[in-house]
Amino acid sequence: MAEAEIPEDHPRHDSLVTRHRIEAGVEKGITSRQGLIAQGRGEAFDYLLGERTLPSADAAARAAAAHLLLADHPVVSVNGNAAALVPGELVALADAVGADLEVNLFNRTEERMRAIVDHLLDHGASEVKGLAADARLPNLTHERAKVDADGIADADVVLVPLEDGDRAAALADLGKAEIVIDLNPMSRSVQVADVPIVDNILRAIPNITAHAHELAHAERAELERIVGAFDAAATLDDAERAIRDGDLS
Ligand code: ATP
Repeated sequence: MAEAEIPEDHPRHDSLVTRHRIEAGVEKGITSRQGLIAQGRGEAFDYLLGERTLPSADAAARAAAAHLLLADHPVVSVNGNAAALVPGELVALADAVGADLEVNLFNRTEERMRAIVDHLLDHGASEVKGLAADARLPNLTHERAKVDADGIADADVVLVPLEDGDRAAALADLGKAEIVIDLNPMSRSVQVADVPIVDNILRAIPNITAHAHELAHAERAELERIVGAFDAAATLDDAERAIRDGDLS
């Protein structure tokens, strides 16, 4: 079934769209085959959450928007799954908050880096970082540590959708404010995040952008209040509770 043929009211709509895009991403050389496994794990958690954005995840998306708007140098990190699933939405978010886009891969190859940079440029990005790779994150092995000196290395706020736990921890160790999107509230990456968003990236990225538009003219004090009031541990507890107590009938 082509993506356009998936009916909006299909009970598994999001999961079918996600599978379709990830499959196309693998065919285009954007997503690694390991990305298929990550997708399967995510899909199981989304099923348990009822494929919906919890109110706590919406509050997290709002706190993420406030963080990004307050930042001196926000960067949106992009991996193969994120690029396949929400390329245009990532470009729109970066535009809304004045962030850089940087491709950052767990399984880094020059071909895949290039393919993702081109894919984002095709979806309207004016500049995409990640190819220079002239800085390193400490405490990580060579390929996974590569970042741009004027990108993630210099950022004060980083959005890392679907990051692995080690790299999320390495970024947190550098003192950067970290926003992580992951459907698994028990994953190590959300556990180290300043703002964990337990939601499907398909819903979370446009939601952060919508909050950013709404907060675009807010006073700094109001943005700081939103950031200060956000409780990461309570957000993770709420998502875990929704999964454990979920009514899937
Ligand atoms: P960690 O190292 O953080 O404990 P992990 O080893 O579980 O994580 P991987 O299997 O590498 O991580 O990555 C997959 C993660 O991405 C899973 O936690 C999964 O829930 C999440 N994920 C997959 N697809 C999506 C999606 N569409 N939206 C949000 N999260 C997703």
